[in-house]
Amino acid sequence: MNATQHAIALEDKYGAHNYHPLPVVLTRGEGIFVTDVEGKRYFDFLSAYSAVNQGHCHPRIVAALTEQAQRLTLTSRAFYSDKLGECEQYLSAYFGYDKALLMNSGVEGGETALKLTRKWAYKVKGIPDGQAKTVYAAGNFWGRTLAAISASTDPSSRNDYGPFLPGYEIVPYNDLAALEAAFAADPHIAGFMVEPIQGEAGVVVPDEGYLRGVRELCTRYNVLFIADEVQTGLGRTGRRLACDHEDVRPDILVLGKALSGGTYPVSCVLADDEIMLTIRPGEHGSTYGGNPLACAVTMAALDVIRDEQLAENAEKMGQLFRDRMNQLKAVNPLITEVRGKGLLNALVINDSEESDAAWNLCLAFMKKGLLAKPTHGNKIRFAPPLVITERQMEEACAIIEKEVEKI
Ligand code: PLP
Repeated sequence: MNATQHAIALEDKYGAHNYHPLPVVLTRGEGIFVTDVEGKRYFDFLSAYSAVNQGHCHPRIVAALTEQAQRLTLTSRAFYSDKLGECEQYLSAYFGYDKALLMNSGVEGGETALKLTRKWAYKVKGIPDGQAKTVYAAGNFWGRTLAAISASTDPSSRNDYGPFLPGYEIVPYNDLAALEAAFAADPHIAGFMVEPIQGEAGVVVPDEGYLRGVRELCTRYNVLFIADEVQTGLGRTGRRLACDHEDVRPDILVLGKALSGGTYPVSCVLADDEIMLTIRPGEHGSTYGGNPLACAVTMAALDVIRDEQLAENAEKMGQLFRDRMNQLKAVNPLITEVRGKGLLNALVINDSEESDAAWNLCLAFMKKGLLAKPTHGNKIRFAPPLVITERQMEEACAIIEKEVEKI
């Protein structure tokens, strides 16, 4: 048994079978590259689902992590720390909100946004107790807790997990008329949570103007616009936030993943006082949420995005990627669609969602030194770290083109 087989066998025997990874066992990461236990190097075109936007083991983030780890890591919120206020101030200024609330995982960020929305519904909007509703778009993905999967329309997320949370409504994505009809029909609607681009659904990009329309409808009907930018935020789509493409400001902004550059689980929710101050002491929290280590890492991770102009690079490299893939699509019927913004892109393969064509293609990419993963069967997401250079992007595109042409 080689080192790869050994590691896979251990996970198979002793770990829960809740994932289906590609058969590659990674042991190191640097920038846009990862190395497996056999010493083979790969382009990482997944970036841990957009958590390592800054590249693997970014030296500035690792330095902040190790320095803080030797000083103070966790106080709980029973006491103040000298890092939390500094980080909250930093986040508020960076994104332009009155306040920030730090949690750990992305799904906790979404859950916090939902709890804030319900509090606001009762305390500010005046919805009768217990009757607040929140609206989600079909195809959404915001994590794996019961609150999140109660909003899911994906059977593999939901099957055999019921009963689900009440007070939810689903509208089609990218459909402003349906959203308005839902708002108009029910005065108890308090919030609409939406991804500016649906990542897990297969990089579904809404029409230009959708986010502006959502903003207008939410304002008109006094409904909170909650943007789930856990995957699309922090430079990924070629802007600081995907909402910046349409110059819209959500009422509640949810961030996670790249907030720590892949070094530590950190998420946060940003909002203004009217919303944030509806939750009072003792009504929400997390032992690790906002700990000093998370705060140090978050500020370093955001510094890197700004100082290295990663959003700008994502915009340029994404254009290059889509140009080359569109040329490939023009001559190869295997690809039916190339879509995305910045460095959040997908190829849609000419096959059904049930087929394994995309999976087999990813295995072929892997053999040639590029890691990408199918999402929803026939879509392959390509999301490298935002530090990728033009030469590296050209090299990676050549691998993809060669393997697609072989089929
Ligand atoms: N929201 C979006 C848009 C996501 O893509 C994800 C994860 O993929 C989440 C929330 C959940 O984040 P986490 O896995 O950190 O809980």
